[in-house]
Amino acid sequence: MSTEFGFLAQVHKAFDQAAAYTDLDEGLLAQIKACNSVYRLTFPLKRDDGTIQVIEAWRAEHSQHKLPTKGGIRFSMAVTEDEVMALAALMTYKCSVVDVPFGGAKGGIRIDRRDYSAGELERITRRYTYELIKKRFIGPGIDVPAPDYGTGPAEMAWIVDTYKSMSNGEQNPEACVTGKPIEQEGIRGRLDATGRGVYYGVREACDSAEEMAALGLEPGLAGKRVVVQGLGNVGYHAARHLADGGAVLVGLAEYEGAIANPDGLDLEAVVRHRKESGSILGFPGATDLPASIDALELDCEILIPAALENQITATNAPRIRARLIGEAANGPTTAAADAILMQKGARILPDLYLNAGGVTVSYFEWLKNLSHVRFGRMEKRFDEAAHRSLLQEIGRAAGVEVSSLDIPDLGADEEDLVHSGLEETMVVAFHQIRDVETGLGIRDLRTASFVTAIKKIAVSYQELGIFP
Ligand code: NAD
Repeated sequence: MSTEFGFLAQVHKAFDQAAAYTDLDEGLLAQIKACNSVYRLTFPLKRDDGTIQVIEAWRAEHSQHKLPTKGGIRFSMAVTEDEVMALAALMTYKCSVVDVPFGGAKGGIRIDRRDYSAGELERITRRYTYELIKKRFIGPGIDVPAPDYGTGPAEMAWIVDTYKSMSNGEQNPEACVTGKPIEQEGIRGRLDATGRGVYYGVREACDSAEEMAALGLEPGLAGKRVVVQGLGNVGYHAARHLADGGAVLVGLAEYEGAIANPDGLDLEAVVRHRKESGSILGFPGATDLPASIDALELDCEILIPAALENQITATNAPRIRARLIGEAANGPTTAAADAILMQKGARILPDLYLNAGGVTVSYFEWLKNLSHVRFGRMEKRFDEAAHRSLLQEIGRAAGVEVSSLDIPDLGADEEDLVHSGLEETMVVAFHQIRDVETGLGIRDLRTASFVTAIKKIAVSYQELGIFP
């Protein structure tokens, strides 16, 4: 594998580049960078046809400086130890950037989920969970997985059920995993959290007159042309929120091909078409791009890679026309491509900031599981009554009779609070990393994000009293 595509090497390169901007002790930096534990496992799967297949899987806990560690589980044929370790490291820095008090972890099972029946996927997920329990690589205070590429609420439900069945009276077994279905102690707003976070981050950048001026664009998201690669959990919801926010979807890419229409694509109609026909290609009114990767080079202002790593490389970066690249996926831009894009004056909203919405809402779900109280349960009615009497009081002062029936319910429920917490997190983190960038005198949000993360993690280690 050439160095351009070694994912862990790329993360290390970004780390080293950022570390050079700090005056931290070499030993402390080495400890922050090192991966604490990697568990590699194999186990047999009895397939529906009776044959046995050996499944290969991993769980990496990059940093236990804060516990539990946290990170998704991926089902993909591209899973390797290198990839899992790289993704676990990114999780550590991501949590730090958005002030989520966890260390980073990641799990991966080397399968293509399309090759397995639902029953087989359940057996794989439950056995994987069982093996993690045996080795103490899962638990509410140890390591808490979540969905990632190729997994979703169904897998999380199997994980929590397996964990609970073996937890022997443990108090908060539901907190062993996040991204669960609502009925199984999940939280409202987790499903679209990463995509929604991507939207908040992109909107914040577009709303900054200074940011847009540097790119030669007008401020505001409305009317900006967007291309999205990958219409899974992250890509679909990011596209939906960006379109709702006024952006125009001019290109959509899936693994079988891509479609383009400079006048805009109706996301829901595209999803329906793909479901019915089995392919994104052939969508009425759109141009087909049989080589899906070509979509990245379409004329647009904003490019959102939301599939997998190593999509923007030294080969296609010179032809990328987008001015703003929003890294919804983890590691979509290689270091070589990063340098080319920056030279072209494009702006990259880096993965470790932009897709942190998922882990942020996972943190809220974990808190809910520990407290056993739905967010909003205590204050919703109180807030509603307070708003109602305030509006009636204002009405009385103005000489207008306001019936309580005319006043909408203004108390925040769980979903409102999750959205509010997520928006606050993404907006605050954006300005924090930009301030760090300004302080460093550079124009590179990835390095600024790494510096932000490294400095915060260093403080946690220094508090232990053993590091300078
Ligand atoms: P997903 O499995 O829900 O969706 C991925 C989509 O990408 C699928 O629809 C797949 O068909 C498509 N795809 C695969 N190869 C493609 C290609 N070459 N071109 C175009 N499309 C392709 O996965 P997801 O959860 O949306 O994750 C996507 C990325 O976002 C990953 O990098 C993941 O690590 C990252 N991420 C996910 C979350 C989360 O909460 N799920 C959080 C943070 C980051």
